[in-house]
Amino acid sequence: MIKTVKGTTDILAPEVLLWQRVEGVLASTAKAYGYEELRTPTIEVQELFSVSVGQTTDIVEREMYSFPDKKGRHLVLRPEGTAPACRAYVEHQLNVQPSPSKFFYMGSFFRYEQPQSGRKREFHSFGVEAIGEQSHLQDAEVIDLVFTMLSRLGLTGLSVDVNSIGDASCRPQYKELLQASLKTHEDKLCDDCKRRLMENPLRVLDCKREDPQLLASLPKSVDFLCDECRTHHALLLSALDSLHIPYRQNSRLVRGLDYYTKTVFEVLSEDLGAQSALLGGGRYDYLVRQLGGPQTPAVGWGLGMERLIAIVAAHSPDLAASLPPLRIYVVHSDTATTAAFELRRRLVESGVAVDIDVRSDSFGKQLARASRRGARYAIIIGDDESSRGTVTVKDLSTGTQETLESDGLAEYLDGRSR
Ligand SMILES: [Zn+2]
Ligand SMILES: [Zn+2]
Repeated sequence: MIKTVKGTTDILAPEVLLWQRVEGVLASTAKAYGYEELRTPTIEVQELFSVSVGQTTDIVEREMYSFPDKKGRHLVLRPEGTAPACRAYVEHQLNVQPSPSKFFYMGSFFRYEQPQSGRKREFHSFGVEAIGEQSHLQDAEVIDLVFTMLSRLGLTGLSVDVNSIGDASCRPQYKELLQASLKTHEDKLCDDCKRRLMENPLRVLDCKREDPQLLASLPKSVDFLCDECRTHHALLLSALDSLHIPYRQNSRLVRGLDYYTKTVFEVLSEDLGAQSALLGGGRYDYLVRQLGGPQTPAVGWGLGMERLIAIVAAHSPDLAASLPPLRIYVVHSDTATTAAFELRRRLVESGVAVDIDVRSDSFGKQLARASRRGARYAIIIGDDESSRGTVTVKDLSTGTQETLESDGLAEYLDGRSR
């Protein structure tokens, strides 16, 4: 038997109905906030991620699915969505269009990690990116947007952890300070952090293996921000206050990727238990320029769909159970096949969902299959019905049936669909 590749999954009904439902809520909310869908390719050149995500990050160091194509080009299966969105922004010169460009995306992403529950090698993300606006209100908007989405999905107890990690004018000094402070504790750090110490000391702050007391004693980036970054951060916090979005200043929050500047944040929900963020994002004001575009500020977030779906399934049973309400099953005799197919075409065009039995056996067997498939009504077209232009509708829950003109069928079913 040939099986799925390790770390990948098939999504079958009824679970896939929940996926469609959740994706629908996320996409329609993003559109209602003025975000347009962006679809980028699944494969990109490797350089896109080493330049943007950062050479010393876990993703680029060991998690990318990279391979040479037949001409020897270095390609990767995309590990995240922000760098491709910025690549598209630069490639299509969207900077000449009215600013900001606001995108949402959803799809498959790939990271070669040890598969565990909720962490697949092929996983699905939904994200938004607002490119071209530096105002703190843009940061507030992307956070407000995800709060609206998650409340529409029935999640409760939402809050956001925020931090500012500064920009090119204040982060270098902070980095040096942090490095100096970390060096005095070097012997206590894990092997990864000993290595990060020189290249990427901020990453030490979110290492799960370090002593929390040691981490709490280190200098905090918010205390070393330049005027611009400090103002931006203060204004964002006051905007969150006015919008009644509960937040906590978390100085250990740095996010795993190199491209972030100023604001970084994670959204938490009581439905998940403590310490566990549902999604993360932040500002990335230099990424477009790093990818060859003009200096362009931007902010966004991305969330893992597998995790969100599991939470919604556990906490919003109403949403999870919402299958299509009415299923109609057409049962027909051999001579009425064409009439049956034509009838379905008309019903589907008028918005009714219809399945049809394509096995030529007795009405009894067809009706039994209709019940097994969970159909509410069977529409029976035998020789008599097809010659008279009528159909017999059998309510499979009560066993009652009546014969009516096939032209009036859509209206008849419409009145009984709830
Ligand atoms: Zn560590
Ligand atoms: Zn700054």
